[in-house]
Amino acid sequence: MSDKSSLQKDVEQRFREFLLAHELRQTRERFAILEAIYSIEGTFTIEHLQELMQERRFPVSTGTLYSTLQLLIQANLLIRHPFNFSSVFERIADSHPRSYQICNNCHRITRIKSKELASSLETYHPRGFSISHRIVYIYGTCPGCLRKMRKMLKLKEQNKL
Ligand SMILES: [Zn+2]
Repeated sequence: MSDKSSLQKDVEQRFREFLLAHELRQTRERFAILEAIYSIEGTFTIEHLQELMQERRFPVSTGTLYSTLQLLIQANLLIRHPFNFSSVFERIADSHPRSYQICNNCHRITRIKSKELASSLETYHPRGFSISHRIVYIYGTCPGCLRKMRKMLKLKEQNKL
């Protein structure tokens, strides 16, 4: 894979500097995991990442995955979303604000693509607080679940008649 994007090269460099600064080893596994993560658009779980590593013929243990993810979080190259239903991660090399819709019912996570919301987040500068990331979570019911609920309600009403 010689055709790496500039983002891939940039995050590799940042991870290398982080590992050097913390006197940690620059292993092939760590960089292969970083590369896999930065090939994923959006959120992912450990299981998803493990499958991807297997597809790439670079299987790694769950322990190695977890410890590498921990390092990437410390290096500010990854975030772990604070969802209580599962461990969901996402790459975060850029400082663009992110906003998500999360369904309380099926736990589906979707990125909100609202320029209006993004620009309000970008221009928000709290006094005396240094921002590292701007992330907003909005919880509710997704269109698919809403449809199912309406269907159920209709069936219940029909059964009553
Ligand atoms: Zn849903």
